[in-house]
Amino acid sequence: MRPETALDARCVAVQSSIMTTKEFWKTKTLAELTDREWEALCDGCGKCCLAKLEDEETGEIYWTSVGCRLFDGSTCRCSDYQNRLKRVPDCVRLTPDNVGTIPWLPSTCGYRLVAEGKELPWWHPLVSGDPNTVHEAGISMRGRVKASEDELAEVEDYFAFILDEEP
Ligand code: SF4
Ligand code: SF4
Repeated sequence: MRPETALDARCVAVQSSIMTTKEFWKTKTLAELTDREWEALCDGCGKCCLAKLEDEETGEIYWTSVGCRLFDGSTCRCSDYQNRLKRVPDCVRLTPDNVGTIPWLPSTCGYRLVAEGKELPWWHPLVSGDPNTVHEAGISMRGRVKASEDELAEVEDYFAFILDEEP
């Protein structure tokens, strides 16, 4: 197994304050979204910032409760979103082209749901109008990260943090 670490496109701003076309995610393709609309589609779950292990023989992905070294588990945010790609080389920037090709993107991810033509759930900040509902619904990783990559030296160190399923 090898650590597949970190990832992506963490949301930022307070979605409810963004001036966007009402329910834009239902009327536009991912490629048609403005930058603000794109960022607002992130629900802030933080799952993509967990380290994953990939079985090199089967390709199976194992989720862990280990956070990227830039992930702040108390806020559920990247601590340096603007510079994340420079500071964490394996942080993956989501784009309209790669959303459908990333096997570890969680089933709840707003980008994945829209790419698959599915509805956003009630707790998505764009639906609820409240950035806290993703946490209140128990979907996010806020307060649920058990270790940081900084604390682990070897791949074997991750084994104790493997989760039974997608968190
Ligand atoms: S660098 Fe930031 S956005 Fe990228 S995986 Fe780490 S915490 Fe998440
Ligand atoms: S998994 Fe998707 S919705 Fe959740 S934080 Fe990452 S990009 Fe945003």
